Amino acid sequence: MLMSKLTRTEHDHLLHMIETMHTEVGIGLAASQVGIELRMLVVDEGRGHGGRAYLNPVIVEQGGEQVGEEGCLSIPGIYADVRRAEWVVVEARDRTGESIRRRATGLLARVLQHEIDHLDGILFIDRVDKVTRDRLKRQIKREGFREQPALSGAFRL
Ligand SMILES: [Zn+2]
Repeated sequence: MLMSKLTRTEHDHLLHMIETMHTEVGIGLAASQVGIELRMLVVDEGRGHGGRAYLNPVIVEQGGEQVGEEGCLSIPGIYADVRRAEWVVVEARDRTGESIRRRATGLLARVLQHEIDHLDGILFIDRVDKVTRDRLKRQIKREGFREQPALSGAFRL
């Protein structure tokens, strides 16, 4: 596989995204959320990692099922249970341009699915059942987006 290093621009965008993610206290961020037209996302994978970059991420395998509450930096104040695959295998390039293949389960799998959806213009409220979606849309219409804590401490992605 050909290795291609990140361009200066990609690298600058990456640093900006990691900074934004941490400022917003999110654990994942897609480039499209901050107006960057690249298929790139960053995920806070916990201690020591700070922010891992995925360029051109593709889910190549997935399975199982999990349901958990999600929130989104792009639609603050909105939270809902979302059904996702329990595990995924993602292929991408990392920040050095190297091809990576990562298997993720649980929360990390959820974050990756949420962020890759962003790159395709899909929000988590597109993934909930119609009754819930209608309720959320009414809430948005009535109250707009306002900051409020998640009911059960859901992560914002
Ligand atoms: Zn989001």
